[in-house]
Amino acid sequence: MEVKAEDGSFFDYRTRARMPLFLGFLRLTSLLTLVFAGWDYLIDPGHWFYNLPLRVGGALAIAGMAQMVPPTLRPRQFDRLALGFSVFYALFLTLVLSRLNQGLTLGMPCLSVFLTLSCFLLAESRRLPWLLTVLLAVGLVSWAVGLDPLVLGSHLIVLTMNLASGGLLASLLEATALREFKLEQALARDASTDSLTSLFNRRAMEALLESESARSLRYQRPLSFMLVDIDHFKHVNDTWGHQVGDEVLRHVGLTCLRALRISDSLGRWGGEEFLALLPETSLEEATLLAERLRLIIEQTPCYQAGQSIWVTISIGLTTFAPGQRWQETYAQADMALYQAKDQGRNRCVARKPQLTS
Ligand code: GH3
Ligand code: MG
Ligand code: MG
Repeated sequence: MEVKAEDGSFFDYRTRARMPLFLGFLRLTSLLTLVFAGWDYLIDPGHWFYNLPLRVGGALAIAGMAQMVPPTLRPRQFDRLALGFSVFYALFLTLVLSRLNQGLTLGMPCLSVFLTLSCFLLAESRRLPWLLTVLLAVGLVSWAVGLDPLVLGSHLIVLTMNLASGGLLASLLEATALREFKLEQALARDASTDSLTSLFNRRAMEALLESESARSLRYQRPLSFMLVDIDHFKHVNDTWGHQVGDEVLRHVGLTCLRALRISDSLGRWGGEEFLALLPETSLEEATLLAERLRLIIEQTPCYQAGQSIWVTISIGLTTFAPGQRWQETYAQADMALYQAKDQGRNRCVARKPQLTS
């Protein structure tokens, strides 16, 4: 499956990665807003005090915001929040600076750094143009408080360049994150998939056995196990060769998968053995399903090398019982399968759960 940037899961992943960065950014901004009262004093000892309530109020508001942001923000909410904060703070800073003598002229680099950092938060490139509205607002406020047009012009140029380089860097980071995400997904897929049949592999099935049996126990819901084994598969290999044997394995796996519900899980448990986990399915329902599956396989040949290859399967069934570990339930299904083989193959045998201890 090709993962595109538009894929919701990628944005979830990015939001989760950016969240701690955003909260850290908020806290740092809150702290610096207070600390820079000292800078106000240095450049304008006559007016710095008027800015103090504004700085304290701003710092508290930002710290409160960092405290209140829910940890499970959805990507769109995160983007809106980060963009809203960037716009709010750029205007706030412009207002604070404009109240000092030479404040805007001397404080512009600070605003510039803030906007560059904002680009990282809004690394989803489609949002970056919105930051241009900040430039416009900053320009308007600066012009309204009478900043020298030449100084204003050069500041706007520097801000634009900073935004552009921040944006460029942000999109590079975004591309790297997307590549990383795809790689992680591919690795996770490979680690849980059987390469021949594309079904779950044994490791993935073991994890599902743990989680499904815990769920069944907790909610007291039925969970059936179905162990499917191809009959005389060695004979298929010996007659048609290993490659055709592989195709037959794929055919049986896919046919089983098609017969199951979306909520069921099917994996290749061993060589020519498949395990299906059927949540919310009683032993009686599982037996009906197994019988249907057995008939489908019996009646559907696998077409290979211009030949129709007919195989049959034997199925062992059981259901998970409270007090059992899944390994014990699996052992019961294995015993049922053994009985099916013993009774002549191409049949289903269901065993009621029996507590072994
Ligand atoms: P039974 O009816 O008792 O299950 O007999 P069987 O021949 O199916 O069982 P047996 O265990 O004797 O042989 C299983 C065969 O499955 C032997 C092995 O070579 C073959 N096998 C296991 N994995 C693969 C695979 O990935 N590809 C192919 N082509 N064959 C495989
Ligand atoms: Mg077999
Ligand atoms: Mg076998």
